[in-house]
Amino acid sequence: MTLYPIETGNFKLDGGAMFGVVPKSIWQKTNPSDSNNMIDISARCLLLEEKNKLVLIDTGMGDKQSEKFFSHYYRWGDNNLVKSINSAGFSTDEVTDVFLTHLHFDHCGGASFFNKKDERNEVVFKNATYWSNREHWNWAKEPNSREKASFLIENLEPIESSGQLKFLKKIGSGFNYYNEIGFELLFVDGHTEKQMIPKITYKGYDLVFTADLIPTVGHIPVPYIMGYDIRPLTTMNEKAVFLEEVVKNKYLLFFQHDAHNQIASLKETEKGVRLETVLDFNDI
Ligand SMILES: [Zn+2]
Repeated sequence: MTLYPIETGNFKLDGGAMFGVVPKSIWQKTNPSDSNNMIDISARCLLLEEKNKLVLIDTGMGDKQSEKFFSHYYRWGDNNLVKSINSAGFSTDEVTDVFLTHLHFDHCGGASFFNKKDERNEVVFKNATYWSNREHWNWAKEPNSREKASFLIENLEPIESSGQLKFLKKIGSGFNYYNEIGFELLFVDGHTEKQMIPKITYKGYDLVFTADLIPTVGHIPVPYIMGYDIRPLTTMNEKAVFLEEVVKNKYLLFFQHDAHNQIASLKETEKGVRLETVLDFNDI
């Protein structure tokens, strides 16, 4: 298997919203903010090449909303999804599967685009199967008022109407292997209903795509949880179990939202599980 990190463009989010009850005096040490209190956020995805499959994990936010919408997110950097897939040596038509950890706009927006000629939103990956799970899909289609701003109908409708959407089913607790996509998944419910966390075996390592379970290095300690999470106590329990497993089995973490740290190993300390070393793809 070959893995390619896919940078889909960086943005910024409010540091307070990203750290919930953690005081700024603490979070600003790992995630320094600008004069607007905004912190750097990436939307780093992964492309897996194996045998006849080319699987994309998440898609970033894409570019089909209005300038006003994007003005809230202070996008920065030169990367975008299609450019990064092309730089890895592939066309969008070669992608066989698009796996979506969850349907918040910064994870699935890049899966579709606005076709100016036909004046409608269409899927970017015309030959791909799109993977979600039924419980999360239904949750996103009828969003609660808390998550309404993150689940956008213009991101869901093109995937559904393409006929290319399929659902994976939760098989019990912990990580389980899914033949359809070729890697393991952990289902977690704290950030949103049934977010799916991938674990990929790569060059002898177990690499976990942490998505919104642990968005940045600053979010490693158990109580450091985003204000966006719908069930923070559930996230705390899920993280505690997950972090013990990471240390015990020497998993590496791949961060989707950490603009400055790509991969990390963790260690057990007196205070709990903490960062050991930061790595990037060239190190593994
Ligand atoms: Zn999310």
